[in-house]
Amino acid sequence: LKWSSRLEKHAASILDTLINNQFQAYWVGGYVRDRLLGRAIQDIDIATSAKPDEVMALFERCEPTGLQHGTVLVIMNGLPFEVTTFREETGYEDFRRPAEVVFIQDIQGDLSRRDFTMNAMAIDRSGRLIDPFGGEEDLRQGVLRCVGDPHMRFGEDALRILRCVRFAAEYRLTIEEQTWNALLTQAPLLKHIAMERVRTELERIVMGSDPGRGFQLFIESDLYRHFKSGTTIPFEYLAKVEQEKLSAIFTAIEESTVRWSLLFLVMCMSSEQASVAMRTLTFSNQKLAEISAIISVHEWCLMDSDDLSKPSNLESILKLSAVRYGLVATRLWLKMITLGIDLIQGGIPHPSDWSKIALQGERWLQELPVYHLRDLKIKGTDLINHGYIPGPDIGEILNKLLQETALGLVDNEKQQLLLRANELIAGKSDQE
Ligand code: ATP
Ligand code: MG
Repeated sequence: LKWSSRLEKHAASILDTLINNQFQAYWVGGYVRDRLLGRAIQDIDIATSAKPDEVMALFERCEPTGLQHGTVLVIMNGLPFEVTTFREETGYEDFRRPAEVVFIQDIQGDLSRRDFTMNAMAIDRSGRLIDPFGGEEDLRQGVLRCVGDPHMRFGEDALRILRCVRFAAEYRLTIEEQTWNALLTQAPLLKHIAMERVRTELERIVMGSDPGRGFQLFIESDLYRHFKSGTTIPFEYLAKVEQEKLSAIFTAIEESTVRWSLLFLVMCMSSEQASVAMRTLTFSNQKLAEISAIISVHEWCLMDSDDLSKPSNLESILKLSAVRYGLVATRLWLKMITLGIDLIQGGIPHPSDWSKIALQGERWLQELPVYHLRDLKIKGTDLINHGYIPGPDIGEILNKLLQETALGLVDNEKQQLLLRANELIAGKSDQE
């Protein structure tokens, strides 16, 4: 067995320590699968006959991350390895967690509690594959299959339903017929899965190698109609989009926030609707704000959509967008639209060449003399010192000055700004 990485060398030394102390130990799970596929290795899981306290006694640095499931995190040279005691699970109660975990002495029993055949293989220290459920052959055929009776396996733990779709998308697998039928029948059990877990799985599909396939499986199975907190995400809109095209465009985008923004826009959602959906999915406040800002930029830039095709207008729209929604969100919107314009249907003007516009757009954004009120060479206190009455009007004037400065209509210079403030106030009282 040849080690291709530092990670694998350390994992081998963990196995050696366990074996030298008369315990059994194997590589298991995702590592075995990804190794057979020649994929990059992210982390290595180890299964052993040693009980958690026995594992902890053998290694200097450990963290008891999941003792009740038998998992100890062993840290070697700063790298974490999950070492889990062979176990059986029984009496699943809440469609998610087993009521009881029993530590056992053989790897076969441990492999049989795992979800899919490709995840239920082990490799021993000499490199021999232990594959009681035909995971290797399934991988070769490109088939995703439950270990044992799929109906029961999804019934024990409904998170496996989402894992099934995620793995099928990520590894471009065909879901075996009985597994697929069981997934369809057991889909309503998804209502027992915390939205946080749903978000994690969705995030992995969105950021994965073939999100289009993941979404297509969501549509075919109607899974999204069974989420715990109602369906605020109209996946059915994605049915109109070609799966390969969607995946090609998504995988060209690095930022998760940009992929999500595009996803919501392809589903014709407003920034408001997207925010509701993200709240339901328990997004962090920061991520929610970043994504809804990008969608707001989109809405703002398209408000006067006929004019967007005229570059001079695009210039001022973009500059004002940077002031309203931030430079970051505006840049990300440019990126999203440059790569993803073909996915967003209806109402999009089509300037002849978006990639040129994006370049030009970036230049306009770099020209901006001010982005934010704090960049302005005049403050509310300056206006008050010149006799303006404190109140909401002051904020309004400052915002107007910020916009005009951003557009280059006024220089960012105190005297000029004061003069312009006077004009604005005069104009205001004229109107009254
Ligand atoms: P990845 O890390 O890429 O998500 P993985 O297969 O390593 O893939 P983990 O969630 O890290 O997935 O779990 C490690 C192993 O534990 C899996 O390969 C599988 O054998 C088992 N496993 C994980 N979650 C479940 C589950 N809900 N039901 C049954 N077995 C599971
Ligand atoms: Mg893993």
